[in-house]
Amino acid sequence: MNEKILLVEDEKTLAKALKFSLEKEGFLVSVAYDGEEALKAAKRDRPQLIILDLMLPKIDGFEVCRAIRRDSQVPIIMLTARDEDIDKILGLELGADDYMTKPFNTRELLSRIRAILRRTTGHSFSGNKVVRIGDIEIDLIKHRVNVRGGEVSLTSKEYALLSFLGSNPGRVFSRDLLLQEIWGYEYCGDARTVDVHIRHLREKIEEFPAEPYYILTVWGTGYKFREV
Ligand code: CA
Repeated sequence: MNEKILLVEDEKTLAKALKFSLEKEGFLVSVAYDGEEALKAAKRDRPQLIILDLMLPKIDGFEVCRAIRRDSQVPIIMLTARDEDIDKILGLELGADDYMTKPFNTRELLSRIRAILRRTTGHSFSGNKVVRIGDIEIDLIKHRVNVRGGEVSLTSKEYALLSFLGSNPGRVFSRDLLLQEIWGYEYCGDARTVDVHIRHLREKIEEFPAEPYYILTVWGTGYKFREV
């Protein structure tokens, strides 16, 4: 089955080159050149994934992402010119799944697209359906997380990270391994992506995020979930 990708990019040359590369990989690609068109196309085409440039005419990428997230969990990869937007892009406010800083390597973009699609179109858990650790409850079927009796909102990546760590309490994972497991990077990933998500997660699930009880840093190695 050919997955549909919506590409939102106002630089015509880049859009054309990307469309060509994506189609060569077997994807069905529609292109929108501004934010308004993007919102229409997202509704009309029901893509399995959206590649969304941040700086766009009419409605910018932030607004487009926010508007799409109001009624859809479709995976979104943001294209950005600057590194400093990462927190906002990956955070709950926007909830994009991933980002690429321009200029980027097309092969790397393709590998991230495949990783996201692998996860969103064919991921199933077996065994335990609800993981309980201390006062945290992770429902692996409904993708819901309760902390101290209240439900918390997590982005899809935060959820993936929490459910992975929480399903393997006590095991230490390096940032690289987490990048591979959660983001599926086959090429060099950015370890800061993991750190940003861990920080956001701690803010949401830890009683004292600065002194985390559940998600522990293992110096020089990575992270582990507390065994309770
Ligand atoms: Ca642009």
